[in-house]
Amino acid sequence: MAKIIIYQPSGTSFVYRVRSKYSIRLWSVRNSRFLEKLYITFADMLLALHPLWLKIGYHRVETPMVAFEKAVKSFLFDCRMCGQCTLSSTGMSCPMNCPKGLRNGPCGGVRANGHCEIEENMPCVWVQAWQGSRNMETGDSILAIQTPVDHSLQGTSSWLRATSQRALIKSGKIDE
Ligand code: SF4
Repeated sequence: MAKIIIYQPSGTSFVYRVRSKYSIRLWSVRNSRFLEKLYITFADMLLALHPLWLKIGYHRVETPMVAFEKAVKSFLFDCRMCGQCTLSSTGMSCPMNCPKGLRNGPCGGVRANGHCEIEENMPCVWVQAWQGSRNMETGDSILAIQTPVDHSLQGTSSWLRATSQRALIKSGKIDE
């Protein structure tokens, strides 16, 4: 019987994702504690610069910040720039790499070897998230239910939004 070849849209092959990004993504999970500390320092620096961002205008800073954030996080986490980063709550494993797009995982389909049900060569990003979270000071935040993804924020800087939110909390204008 002739083999049936299912059409594969370009750019969707898991082989590409696995070969190009996989090992660095796993390194980030293994070093989640170090990256957590690094991010806390960086986030505090962004917050200290809040008056400058206000002066320039957050909307003007957005484009260069998006380019910078994308470059750093694509390299380290295979980031998809969802605009609502949860890395601090997901063991430095980006949930947007889950082929099912789950923000609260894992699903019930994880293989016995801890790999993904859909992409069998890839360890489940949620199994990785749990492992990474165990090294982090804020690791237990993985137990909190994540809100649904707001796709209107796709391609925006979560670093800038987090900075502006922290500045508002600090000034007492909104609750934590
Ligand atoms: S959660 Fe969103 S912003 Fe954070 S690394 Fe994943 S795609 Fe990027």
